Amino acid sequence: MLIFKQNGPLQAYLNTLAKKGKKIGFVPTMGALHKGHLSLIALAKEECDVVVNSIYVNPTQFNDAADLDKYPRTMTADISLLAQADNDILYAPDSGEIYPKGFDKDKIYDLKGLDTMLEGAFRPGHFNGVALVVHRLLDIIQPDALFMGQKDYQQVAIIRQVIVSEKIKTKLIMCPIVRDAKGLALSSRNARLSPEWKSKALVLSATLRFAKAELKKGISLSKIKKEALVAIEAKGLKPEYFSIINGKTLQPGKQNNASLVAVTAAWAGDVRLIDNMVIK
Ligand code: AMP
Repeated sequence: MLIFKQNGPLQAYLNTLAKKGKKIGFVPTMGALHKGHLSLIALAKEECDVVVNSIYVNPTQFNDAADLDKYPRTMTADISLLAQADNDILYAPDSGEIYPKGFDKDKIYDLKGLDTMLEGAFRPGHFNGVALVVHRLLDIIQPDALFMGQKDYQQVAIIRQVIVSEKIKTKLIMCPIVRDAKGLALSSRNARLSPEWKSKALVLSATLRFAKAELKKGISLSKIKKEALVAIEAKGLKPEYFSIINGKTLQPGKQNNASLVAVTAAWAGDVRLIDNMVIK
């Protein structure tokens, strides 16, 4: 695996590949890699000739400084996982490469309201920061395809919007959520859960499965939502939201929508977790 820390050498190398007609796949991450990230790399390897993975903990998407400080950083372990996964290129820049002097860090993206609901309502500015860094990374890497996880369903919608509004040629591919054997969605933040909270946090995926089953029985969305929130609270987690949204628009869902996604965010102690499931 090749490791680049600087844009210049990375771009020069990627140019030689592009000239040879190689299809470049890109998997952006913030590190503390787990099997969810590795599944994105595996999918990218199936679709592309060369896979670039980036590890950069992006300060502009953290609305909470403490969350940024606490974010796990495990570069040595990450490098060995990437090598085992046969990843081709790791791009591990520092902030000077991503936001050089003179770069407009204050750019505001018109995210068509997708950024103010759900996660955006609880993490103001978060999605503008995500848009900024992913746009910048796409600009540096110029990949043919971008692989992002359904785990961050709203994030995928945001980046789809950025790709359209900035007229970017990259194809966006959403990859399925990887869970542990008990159903907990893998997340870098899970490393901070005590065994007790890890077990209690299973309520999140359980309520998503419950929502899917109840919807099949014709139970109303509002009743499903109420019962899901009660179940999450009963385990001692503090839910921020449990919503059933239209899978296309992300607006509050209606029973007769073609696609519905149940989405939730909750605090398990001092760890904020998100999860979702396509329920129709
Ligand atoms: P992060 O490092 O948390 O920013 O995540 C990097 C990418 O991995 C994003 O596209 C996430 O949606 C994706 N991802 C995170 N967790 C999972 C998971 N459990 N399954 C699949 N993809 C994931």
